[in-house]
Order: sequence, then C-alpha cells, then structure tokens
Amino acid sequence: MNVLGIETSCDETGVALYSTERGLLAHTLYSQIAVHREYGGVVPELASRDHVRKTLPLVQEVLDCAKLTAKDIDAVAYTAGPGLVGALMVGATISRSLALGWGVPALGVHHMEGHLLAPMLEEDRPEFPFVALLVSGGHTQLVRVDGIGEYQILGESLDDAAGEAFDKAAKMLGLPYPGGPQIARIAEDGDPKRFNFPRPMINRPGLDFSFSGLKTHTLTTVRALEAEAPLTDQDKSDIARAFEEAVVSTLVIKCRRALEQENLHRLVMAGGVSANRNLRKQLAETLGKQGSEVFYPAPQFCTDNGAMIAYAGAQRLAAGQVDGTEVQVRPRWPMTELPPILAVPEA
Ligand code: ATP
Ligand code: MG
Ligand code: FE
Repeated sequence: MNVLGIETSCDETGVALYSTERGLLAHTLYSQIAVHREYGGVVPELASRDHVRKTLPLVQEVLDCAKLTAKDIDAVAYTAGPGLVGALMVGATISRSLALGWGVPALGVHHMEGHLLAPMLEEDRPEFPFVALLVSGGHTQLVRVDGIGEYQILGESLDDAAGEAFDKAAKMLGLPYPGGPQIARIAEDGDPKRFNFPRPMINRPGLDFSFSGLKTHTLTTVRALEAEAPLTDQDKSDIARAFEEAVVSTLVIKCRRALEQENLHRLVMAGGVSANRNLRKQLAETLGKQGSEVFYPAPQFCTDNGAMIAYAGAQRLAAGQVDGTEVQVRPRWPMTELPPILAVPEA
C-alpha cells in the first residue's frame, strides 16, 4: 500500500510517500522559517497561506521523485492535530480533496504519534514496549508505549516545552528563530564551568518537568551581565552552554527514572529537541551504563516532516482505520484518546 503523507501543523510543509512493502519512497520539506524569522516566531495566518502555496507542488515533487503517478496512491494521511487550526485546515482540506478525487481513503493523523513513530523509519527499530521521550516545540512528555495507540503519559511539562525554552533562551541572547539549533551551535564554544544553571524538579519525585524557572534564571543572568557591559560572544556561548547542560541533564535524569519505574530497557526519543547532539550523547552514555538502549530518528525526521505522518498513517490505514469524508481538525488533541491499533475496526 502506497500512502501519501501531508504535514502542515505549524511552519513546515512536509510531504512524503511511504510504501508498506518498500518503505519510504520519497519525501520533501519546505520550511517557512524565513517567512517567520523577522517576527521572532510563527505567525499563524502567514503559515496557513504558505501551506496553501506549497502543498500541491510538493505532492507533485514526491510523485515525480518516486516515479509514481496519482493512480499509484492507495491512501492519504494528513496531520489532523494538534497544531495551528488554520494550518491544519489547509492540510486537511487538500488531503481530503485529493483522496476524494482519487477515490481512496484518507486518515487524520495525530502529529505527536507521528513524532513518536518516526524512529521506526530507521533500520534499527525499537520493539514495543518502550518509554518515549517526546521533546518538541510544544511538548515535553514521557510516555509508556505498549503498541501503536497504547499510550500512557508518565510525566510532562507543567509549563514551557523544552523546545519552547530553547527558543525563548535564544531570543534573550539575540539569536534568530528557531533557537534550539542556534543555542546548540554557540554552546559548543561555551565554558561549562562558568555558570551552573538549576536543574528544575530533579529533587522532587515523579516524572513531570518544568522549564519556566530555567528561562527566568537565563534572563536574570543575561540582565546581570548586561548591567556591566554588553554581552560578548563568549558570554553568550557560556550562557548557552549552561542552559543546554541544565535542560539535557534534567531530561536524562527523568528518562532514567522513567525506565526504572516501568522496568523497561528501551528509550525512544523524538521531536525537534531530539536532534540535539549533546542530549543524544548524554542519554546514550547514561542509559548505556544501566544496560538500556536509546533509539531516535535521523536528524531530518526529528523536526516536523511528512515521512512520519505517512508512516503513522500507513500503520493505521493498513489496520483498516479510515475517517469519514468531513474535514475535521483537532488543534488540541490528547494522544491518550487515540485508539489502539488492534481495536481498529475492519474497513
Ligand atoms: P510540536 O511537535 O510539539 O507540535 P513543533 O512541531 O513546533 O511542536 P518540532 O518541529 O518537533 O516542534 O521541533 C521544533 C523545536 O525543536 C523548536 O523548539 C527547536 O528550537 C527545537 N530544536 C530543533 N533542533 C534542536 C537542537 N539541535 N537542539 C535543541 N532544540 C532543537
Ligand atoms: Mg517547526
Ligand atoms: Fe512537531
């Protein structure tokens, strides 16, 4: 079965073709970063309009790349939520229209299930059950995963998501949006001993996170230095380093705790922040010592992309799940409301 996947939940138009027999056939991505950069963050209306412009040309591009035509497509999967309502509506409307025109089923996919399953696109795939750390621009969650659609939230951020904290800290340092990769880049030149930022909530039991205090601490540090003199590049690198260390070690500690609590030995990490090299390294080191394995997507499939939506959609469509013909999106959609794949009724 060939599934066309379309992702438009935020500021990336991602389109991909996944074959349940042959794997990922083609994928392409258009990022709107340049559109939003001058505003310092995503402007929803501009995002919707850009998805309108880009989606169909990208569909044509993946078909050409895979040397297929519309007749070869067996189903369309698109992101139905969570995300920006206008951006989701564009993807859902285009996807449903294509499916109707082609006479094939369509399915709305949960964006975070897409992220969660992205490591399955790699050769070395994790087996169920595992603990997943979802770390992206809008989510920071630890999830027990017993199968597709069998999710139990073990802990989550009580305030900012990890990616959001990276983006805000970057802004304080005068770095462009999105801030995660920028912080990671300048942190490489930072002195790890100059500042020691707090590790939020590690001394409390449980698996929840909080990143807003770290954000405030970053701002206080920036202000204190600026009161003396404008920040130098070295100051910025040192702050970025301390910030990244604090986020990474908080995430690592909670991941280890989650595996111990669930008595599991596989950790799957996904979402934009999972592209962070320092996080990958420290997780692998710490969890490796306790005999656990860590799985993550290729860097290009950590942030938003069409391949993860095509893959997640293909699993559910292959199990017989389809949606009605109405265009429905869910800007807010708890992942725990998804049906387990085994309980999906036959089409
Ligand atoms: P969500 O998936 O929760 O709806 P989103 O789709 O906006 O949010 P993603 O596209 O998965 O999030 O990830 C984007 C986030 O990842 C941004 O906050 C970005 O700063 C962060 N990010 C990307 N690369 C890195 C990196 N190397 N280090 C740290 N953060 C990163
Ligand atoms: Mg994005
Ligand atoms: Fe995302």
